[in-house]
Amino acid sequence: MKYEVVVGLEVHAELDTRTKIYCNCTTKFGAEPNTQCCPVCLGLPGAIPVLNKKVVEYAVKTGLATNCSITMLSKQDRKNYFYPDLPKAYQISQDDLPICTDGYLDIEVEGKTKRVGIHRIHIEEDAGKLIHSESNNDTLIDFNRAGVPLIEIVTAPDMHSSQEVKAFFEKLKTILEYTEVSDCKMQEGSLRADINLSVKPEGAKTLGTRTEMKNLNSTRAIVRAVEHESKRQIEQLEQGLLITQETRRWDDAKCESYPLRSKKEAHDYRFFAEPNLCSIIIDDAWLKRIRASIPELPDDKKVRFIKQYDLPEYDAAYITSSKPLADYFENAAKISKNPKAISNWIMGDVLNKLKDGGIQITGIPISAQRLTKLVDLIDSNIISSRIAKQVFEIMWDTNDEPDEIVEKYGLQVLSDSDTIKRIVNEVISENPKAVDDIKSGKKRSIGFLVGQVMRKTDGKADPRIVNQLLSEATQ
Ligand code: ZN
Ligand code: MN
Repeated sequence: MKYEVVVGLEVHAELDTRTKIYCNCTTKFGAEPNTQCCPVCLGLPGAIPVLNKKVVEYAVKTGLATNCSITMLSKQDRKNYFYPDLPKAYQISQDDLPICTDGYLDIEVEGKTKRVGIHRIHIEEDAGKLIHSESNNDTLIDFNRAGVPLIEIVTAPDMHSSQEVKAFFEKLKTILEYTEVSDCKMQEGSLRADINLSVKPEGAKTLGTRTEMKNLNSTRAIVRAVEHESKRQIEQLEQGLLITQETRRWDDAKCESYPLRSKKEAHDYRFFAEPNLCSIIIDDAWLKRIRASIPELPDDKKVRFIKQYDLPEYDAAYITSSKPLADYFENAAKISKNPKAISNWIMGDVLNKLKDGGIQITGIPISAQRLTKLVDLIDSNIISSRIAKQVFEIMWDTNDEPDEIVEKYGLQVLSDSDTIKRIVNEVISENPKAVDDIKSGKKRSIGFLVGQVMRKTDGKADPRIVNQLLSEATQ
C-alpha cells in the first residue's frame, strides 16, 4: 500500500523588540540568569501587564507579508496550565480572535509551485527556561526569557514531504528576516517549530492519528524529524498497529524520537479574556503605516533581479534567499557593468570563503565596491580571471584595493606581443610532438601548448594573444 504523509507546523518566533511584551525588561539574549525580570514578568501578585505596541505592529507586519487577513478588533486570553517555567501558572495568549488569519505562502518544490495555508498568527508571551543539570541531578530556572514576545504561526496540514516542510520553513524564516520582525537565531531559540504529522493510505479522505514533536530548533532537525516520524508511522501501520496520539520528543543527536506524554485527553486550558488588558484595536491609518513599512519581499526582489540585472532564475532565487546577501549583491551590481559576474563571484568564491571562516555575509572583509572593482579589472583585461583569484585572496586578508594589489605584486596581464612570441617559440621548440599532432589535425593539443605558455608566464599572458600566436606558428 502507498501512504501519504500529512504535516502541519506551529512555528514560534521571538519578536526582535527592545523590551518584553508586558513590561520594560530588556529582551537581550545571553545575560546572567534572572537579571532581566520584574514583578510583571515574574507574575507577582498585583503586577499589571501593559501591552507593548511594537508586538502588535510586528504581528500585523508578519500577517501582511504572509497574505493574511488582519483582525481589526482582537483580544488577549489567559491560557491556564501549570508548568514550572510559567510563573503566573497561565500564559497570556490569544484564543478565538488571533491578530491574523487565513494567509498562505507559495513554495517551490522540484520545479512546481505549491500553496501552503496559514491558519492563524497570534501573539503570546514566552515562558522562562528550565536548565536541567545532569551532574547535580537538579533543575535550575532562568526567568530572563519569561515575557519575551512571541508570535505563533499555525499552518494548515498542507505539506506532504520533508522537502515541502523545508521549503516552507525556509521561506517563512526569510520573510521574518526581511521584515526584521525576528532575528531568527535558531541556535538561541528565537525560532522553533512544532511538527504535527500523520500518515494515511493514499487517496483516503480522513486523516490518520497524528503525533506532535515540539521545539525543533534547526532546519536540519526539522527535516530529519519529518523523515523519521513518517517512516515510523508507516512501519506501525504496515504491522497492523495503531498510531497513538501523543507528544514525542525528537532527539537530534540520536536521530530518533520517543514518547513524552499521551495526548488522549484533550487539554482544557480554561481560556478566558485577560481582565487586565483591553481590546486591541487596529485602525485603517495604523494598518496603512504598517503596510508601508514592509520592505520589498524575496519573491518580488527575485523577479526584479532577473529583470534589472539579467540574472538567471537560479542565481536570483539563491541570492534573494537572504536579505543581507541580496543587499551585498545589489550594492555591487548597481555600480557594475557585469552583474552576472558579480553573482558568480558571490555564489562561488565569496560564499566558500565565508563558509570556511564561519563568517556571516554582514562581516565580509571585502566591500561590495571592491568586488566590483575586481570584476572591472578582469573585464578590462588588466588581469586574467586566474590571477583575479589570487587578488581576491589578498583582498580578503589585507583590506587593500584590488588595483593597488595588482600594482604591488606586478600581476597585470602580459600583453606585449614580442615577449609572448619569444615564449611561444620556446614552447614550440620544446614540444615537437605536440606541434606534429596539431599539424596532423589534432587541434586539441593546442590547449596543452597554451598551458605551457601560461606556466612560463605565471598565468599572466593574455590568452587571446597566446592562442593567436600559437595557431599561427602551428599552421
Ligand atoms: Zn519584566
Ligand atoms: Mn504557543
